Amino acid sequence: EEQPLFAGLPGDIAMSFEFFPPKSEKMAEKLWDAVQELRPLAPEFVSVTYGAGGSTRERTHNTVARIIAEAGIPAAAHLTCVDASKAETQAVAEQYWEAGVRHIVALRGDAGEPGAPFKPHPEGYDSAADLVRGLKEVADFEISVAAYPETHPDADCPQSDLDNLKRKIDAGATRGITQFFFSADTFFDFQNRVKDAGIEAPMVPGILPVTNVAQARKFAGQCGAVIPEWMDGLFEGLDERPAARQLVAATLAAELCRRLYAGGVRDFHFYTLNRADLAYAICHMLGRRPVGELS
Ligand code: FAD
Repeated sequence: EEQPLFAGLPGDIAMSFEFFPPKSEKMAEKLWDAVQELRPLAPEFVSVTYGAGGSTRERTHNTVARIIAEAGIPAAAHLTCVDASKAETQAVAEQYWEAGVRHIVALRGDAGEPGAPFKPHPEGYDSAADLVRGLKEVADFEISVAAYPETHPDADCPQSDLDNLKRKIDAGATRGITQFFFSADTFFDFQNRVKDAGIEAPMVPGILPVTNVAQARKFAGQCGAVIPEWMDGLFEGLDERPAARQLVAATLAAELCRRLYAGGVRDFHFYTLNRADLAYAICHMLGRRPVGELS
């Protein structure tokens, strides 16, 4: 008997949505529309990224504060160690606490130029684990950290990357959010290795719906993710067909999420690129429906 493709999934999932801080009024409006559209799904939290070298410090802060105040969604601020002393970083964290932010995604960050090695500020935090410890000194934040199913490019080997993840959890983080990946088995293998390393904190898969494979490939090499070759074939000939690319992207991401769900995953983090529709459709296909009072 034929299995239904997606029917009957109960929507018993938790999700979070990641945004980047808008650069203009027009982008801010688009971001706000996306937040409003995703809000009825009752996400656990949304998060807002932090630009290289603290370049978005104000915009990240304002976006997070607005989401908490006006949308009433718990929001997490990303924070990095780049180009700031410990005192400066702690001051930023104190401002967040005062604005009602209780959740930080703590990251090392990267050097300004792509591919250049990270250089810690002489008086700054030198790694995400170091930052997690510093944030816990400021206040009792909930802290999430980055995790790499395909190993961070700066790591000597997969095991040392796992040791580093364990240091971040031991320093006070309670959740890993993964870099994007395109194979459910990659994630399941990673989950097993995390368990074997004695890490009990949950690892939440980061889902990136890719609509432009060339762009994603440029970016992936620097950040510990592999774009499989079969994806090139799927996007071949679609350069001038943006609508078809959207459909392909949604199908791939939904299928990945369905396999993760079938393997027991109930928690998803979506890299939304400030657009609601793909993330909304995928959550819908997993059975998620708007929560009454929020819609
Ligand atoms: P760390 O955990 O400090 O690790 C960096 C590397 O150093 C790893 O290879 C690790 O194994 C190694 N390492 C660390 N300490 C040691 C040690 N003592 N001994 C040996 N090896 C060590 N970037 C931004 O700029 N802004 C953002 O908002 C942002 N958000 C992100 C969100 C998610 C979910 C993810 C997955 C990444 C995000 N990034 C962001 C990217 C991130 O800043 C980069 O991937 C960066 O290169 C590493 O940051 P990290 O926090 O993983 O660093």
